[in-house]
Amino acid sequence: MTAQLAPTETEAAPFATKLLIGNRWVSSESGESFATVNPTTGEEICQVAAADASDVENAVQAAREAFEHGLWRKMHASERGQLLYRLADHIEKNADALARLESLDNGKPVSVAKRVDVAKAVACYRYFAGWADKVQGKTIPIDGDFFCYTRHEPIGVVGQIIPWNYPMLMQAWKLAPALATGNTVVMKPAEQTPLSALRIGELIVEAGFPEGVVNLLPGFGPTAGAAIARHMDVDKVAFTGSTEVGRFILEAAAKSNLKRVTLELGGKSPNIIFHDTDLDEAVEGAHLGIFSNQGQICCAGSRVFVEENIYDQFVEKSVARARKRVVGDPFDLKTEQGPQVDQAQFDKVMGYIESGQSEGATLACGGKRVGDRGYFIAPTVFADVRDDMKIAREEIFGPVMSVIPFKNLEEVITRANRTIYGLAAGVWTRDIKKAHAIANGIRAGTVWVNCYNILDTRAPFGGFKQSGSGRELGEYGLQEYSEVKTVIIRL
Ligand code: NAP
Ligand code: MG
Repeated sequence: MTAQLAPTETEAAPFATKLLIGNRWVSSESGESFATVNPTTGEEICQVAAADASDVENAVQAAREAFEHGLWRKMHASERGQLLYRLADHIEKNADALARLESLDNGKPVSVAKRVDVAKAVACYRYFAGWADKVQGKTIPIDGDFFCYTRHEPIGVVGQIIPWNYPMLMQAWKLAPALATGNTVVMKPAEQTPLSALRIGELIVEAGFPEGVVNLLPGFGPTAGAAIARHMDVDKVAFTGSTEVGRFILEAAAKSNLKRVTLELGGKSPNIIFHDTDLDEAVEGAHLGIFSNQGQICCAGSRVFVEENIYDQFVEKSVARARKRVVGDPFDLKTEQGPQVDQAQFDKVMGYIESGQSEGATLACGGKRVGDRGYFIAPTVFADVRDDMKIAREEIFGPVMSVIPFKNLEEVITRANRTIYGLAAGVWTRDIKKAHAIANGIRAGTVWVNCYNILDTRAPFGGFKQSGSGRELGEYGLQEYSEVKTVIIRL
């Protein structure tokens, strides 16, 4: 542990643990609060105010007021960009403390929190800051004596519901494009990891965003989340999380005001290894593809398809690598893997490990709890996995790799596509034709060739099939936050 990255006492009791509504920190109307837990120890970090429907009502009113009448609406687009740049600067200045807070609340290694979560959140705010004054329509030569042009206008009040696996980064993916395009926001962070979102809320106020532009409501899904999803005055909901809740959000939108919905849901992504690849690179790529972030990544390469003639060698090397993975204290800079986020996720993952064994897969390593407190699970590799096993079909969201043999290109494309999901895929080969065949043949939002989990704020990300709808990041992501208005003038 280095002094620089060790948590300090004040960080274990952050002060902004209330709701942010209209730039003021307020208690929930019910007076209720909930504990956020340190997954390394299972102990409470602090209590956080729990929003429910009446707080959602207040936050939506504040967001509506800010959208219709506030300073925000009159502000130049370039000034919105400046505010986002300033927020990015504030986050960067507080990078170490934010990384420690994320690590404390989520369990991810602090080194990763700093290098990935904080750095990528800063990059995301800066990227969309640059877009703020470049969102523009077209002039269109319609028939007749008319002048026709389009305006790209904000959608209005946007509800955003985010998960716990990358709390600060998912907040950035949602807030940055919404604010760049002039919307106002009511956001619910995940109940497991509210702290970094709230600390960023303080920085948002400090950066000078007008009141009501960003409202933060820590609380639970079925209460605060559902109230956002069914609210008649919320114009859009952007959601990241499970496919099950995604379905509920869509239903709530259909039953209320037909609000726009974008969904970023689960996955069961194939990572396909051909014999003509550099084997050691592919082993490392597949290892990081599934074990990064404790396996809690929506696009994790959880089905590793390996060509028959290198299968045994691949399993052997993958097991050796998994055994070397350093699991432990997230504040130790040597740590590669921390705990799962909570008891429920721990139990769910252990349940899948049991099911893999009972369905006849070979447990090649791991499969056990690490230590006697917190939610640590040993990196687990299953060999001899068949497509019909539960561990090959369902999203585990934990450090469990399933290695599955295949014979040839056409067969592996068909089998890789036999899933309800379509978030991502990877392929490892030196043959450009095979790489293109996979890139074109797999029904998924992102395909990585000789790499995995490369995400960049400039490139769109999202799912085919039940992995979601709409895209985040890049110009495509930006488009999900504006309405196109057509104006026609008789000349
Ligand atoms: P989840 O329930 O879908 O949680 C995601 C967000 O939705 C949280 O903020 C959650 O609030 C909220 N939510 C829950 N029920 C809601 C409802 N009825 N209406 C509106 N919002 C609601 O996911 P989870 O239970 O934390 O994890 C379950 C599984 O989802 C994981 O095992 C994993 O497979 C998948 N998952 C995927 C991603 C991803 O990046 N695509 C991220 C996280 C989880 P609460 O905080 O109260 O739950
Ligand atoms: Mg927590």
